[in-house]
Amino acid sequence: MDQLALEFPNFEQNISTKHEANKHAGNQEKKHAARERATELKEKIKDYLAAKRMIPTGFDLAPAYREARERVLRAFSAAEKDWNDWHWQLSHRITSVQTLARFLALSDQDREEIAGVSGHLRWALSPYYLALVMCDEPHGALWKQSIPSSFEITDMRGCEDPMAETWTSPAPGVTRRYPDRLIINVTNQCAMFCRHCQRRRNIGKGDHHRPRAVLEAALQYVRENEEIRDVLVTGGDALLLDDLVLDWLLGELHAIPHVEIKRLGTRTPVTLPQRVTPELCAVLEKYPPIYINTQFNHPREVTPEAKQACDLLVRAGAVLGNQAVLLRGVNNDPHVMKKLNQELLKIRVRPYYIFHAKNVKGTSHFITSVDEGLKIMENLRGQTSGLAVPTYIINAPYGMGKTPVAPNYLLGKKGNQLLLRTWENKIIPYEIPS
Ligand code: SF4
Repeated sequence: MDQLALEFPNFEQNISTKHEANKHAGNQEKKHAARERATELKEKIKDYLAAKRMIPTGFDLAPAYREARERVLRAFSAAEKDWNDWHWQLSHRITSVQTLARFLALSDQDREEIAGVSGHLRWALSPYYLALVMCDEPHGALWKQSIPSSFEITDMRGCEDPMAETWTSPAPGVTRRYPDRLIINVTNQCAMFCRHCQRRRNIGKGDHHRPRAVLEAALQYVRENEEIRDVLVTGGDALLLDDLVLDWLLGELHAIPHVEIKRLGTRTPVTLPQRVTPELCAVLEKYPPIYINTQFNHPREVTPEAKQACDLLVRAGAVLGNQAVLLRGVNNDPHVMKKLNQELLKIRVRPYYIFHAKNVKGTSHFITSVDEGLKIMENLRGQTSGLAVPTYIINAPYGMGKTPVAPNYLLGKKGNQLLLRTWENKIIPYEIPS
C-alpha cells in the first residue's frame, strides 16, 4: 500500500456522487441549490462582518485625527502649511519623553520605559504619526509600533542581523541574496523608527544618507552584472532621499540596459504621507516601471492622507504593494489582517507579503507563533478576494531568502489523482485528465 492509500483509505472510491446526480438536475433544482449555497455563504461571513465594524480605519477616525493634528500644530506654533510640508514633519519628529508627554497620557511606568530605551536606541515619530497614535488606545497597535517599551532592552533573545545582510554584501551599499536582483541601501533615515524594525542595528545615533561614492560603487556593481534585472532601492526609507538625489539615482539605473524594473522601499505613505509631493511624482514618472513597496500594518494607518499619497504615486505610474509584518498585539488577528488587506485594495495598494517577524534582538515581544500566521492565511484564502491574499513569508536564516509558508491544500497525489482540501476545509478527490 502506498503512503496516500494509508493516509486516505477511501481515496479511490471517494468520488462525489452528489456532483454526478447534479449533472441531471433541472433548472429549478439548480436555482434552489444556488439559493441554498448563497445562504450558506452569507452565514460564513457573518462573524467577520460583526468584527469588521469594530475595527476602525484611519477614515473612521478622521474627525479625532483632525483634533489631534490641531493640538500638535498649536503646541508647535505651526500652521496647516507646515503640517503638509515633509521637511517640517521631519524636523519636528518627537524624540523626547517630555514632548511625548504633552500629547499622550503617559504613566510613570511608560515614562521610565521610554527613558530607559532612549539611552540605548533612538526613537522618533513624525507629528503625523503621533496624531494617529493620539487617536489610538493607550498601548494600542500604533502606539506599540512607534513608542519604545522596556522589552527592547530587557529581552535580548535573537540577533542583530538575522538575515545576514552584512554577509551578503558583495559591493558597498549592496545586498545580494538572489540570482537576478539586489538591494541598494541608500540611507539609515526614516520618518519613524518602528519598534519592530529588522534593521534597527543601522539606526545608529544620527541620520546618514550613503555618500555619493558608495552609491556610485553600487551602481557600478549593477552595471557589471548583467543578470541583475531588478534593483530595490531601500534603507532606512528610500523616499527620505531628496528629489535631486532620487532623480540622479533612478536616472542612472534607468540608463542600465539590463535593469528592467526599479523598486523603492518606503514606509512614508504610512508614517509621512506628506513626502509624496507633485515634485517627487514628477521624478518617479520619468523612470518607469517603478514598483513601490510600503508597510501598512493596521487598518488605522489607512487614512485620507495615506490614500492621497497613494493616489499621487499611482498617477505617477508606480505600482504599489504592501509588505505587512505580523506583529503580536498589532495585527495578529485574522479579522484585523483581513480588514487591513481589504482597505489597502481600496487605496490601490496590493497586499504582497505578510512577513513573519524576524528574530531581531530587542523585538522578541512582537514575534507570534507560525500557527497564528497560518490561521490568518486560512482566514483569507477563499474568504475574500484573491487580490487581498498576500504571501506569508518566513525569512530563512543566514540570508537564505524568503520562504513562503502556506496552509496545505493538496493533501495527496497519486498519478493524476489529487486529494484537495478546499478553502472551506472540504476534502475533495480530483482527477486531472491524462
Ligand atoms: S520605516 Fe522600515 S526601515 Fe525604517 S524603522 Fe520602520 S521598519 Fe525600519
